[in-house]
Amino acid sequence: LPALYLAATPIGNLGDITQRTLDILRAVPWIAAEDTRHSAPLLARFGAKGKLIACHQHNEEAAAAHLIARLAAGESVAYVSDAGTPAISDPGARLVARVRDAGFRVVPLPGACAAVTAFSAAGFADERFLFYGFLPAKAGQRDDALRALQSTPCALIFYEAPHRILDTVTALANVLGGEREVLLARELTKLFEQLHVCRLDEAHAWLSADADRQRGEFVIAVASARADTAADDAESERVLSLLLADGL
Ligand code: SAM
Repeated sequence: LPALYLAATPIGNLGDITQRTLDILRAVPWIAAEDTRHSAPLLARFGAKGKLIACHQHNEEAAAAHLIARLAAGESVAYVSDAGTPAISDPGARLVARVRDAGFRVVPLPGACAAVTAFSAAGFADERFLFYGFLPAKAGQRDDALRALQSTPCALIFYEAPHRILDTVTALANVLGGEREVLLARELTKLFEQLHVCRLDEAHAWLSADADRQRGEFVIAVASARADTAADDAESERVLSLLLADGL
């Protein structure tokens, strides 16, 4: 049966492609890509031979119509965004909706996603996270968005570009509270991968201490205010039980 396969591609390290995704990329006659010039060398390296079609945020509807015609002809299609999982802060959602509305199967192929990769190494007390993606570029809208997230009872995950990282950590500290724990995950899976955990009000100074720390791609994970309280509660309980054990 023909299907649209959503193929997650690496976010840096080319080894982070699954065997199943390689098998599908090598088998499908059509591969739609967010940026065909960007993905062509990668797909060639993976041994994918399907014809490339551009499908990005400005032509997603037209590309979807074209791809649905291929599916109707019995041919499967894979979709790749520039990096990581399609439709996660990337195009793909409208294509998925159109293909499903047209009655065809949509098959997600799991793989690299910067948000999940970063959160798995955060070590926060939070079990839950809210994936926000990119904050608005304008300061007023960004701060409004952050105020709306202030009392969300889970960790918050943001994507950020290097030229905005300093401003963004300052805004996060001001609006969400400087005492929260933050993970700055830079260049995940790449040569200069760096994971740094500190308080939000220490993040600006840490990033500023070395210009290299502001380079590359970032995921910012902020622990919930509640996670700090939960950690404090656990600490109080531990101290109390020690005192009780001592008969005090
Ligand atoms: N679809 C992708 C995914 O599954 O993670 C995200 C695409 S989004 C356009 C690109 C943003 O993801 C970057 O600006 C950065 O915030 C984050 N990102 C992607 N790769 C990363 C990496 N290797 N290390 C840290 N952040 C990364």
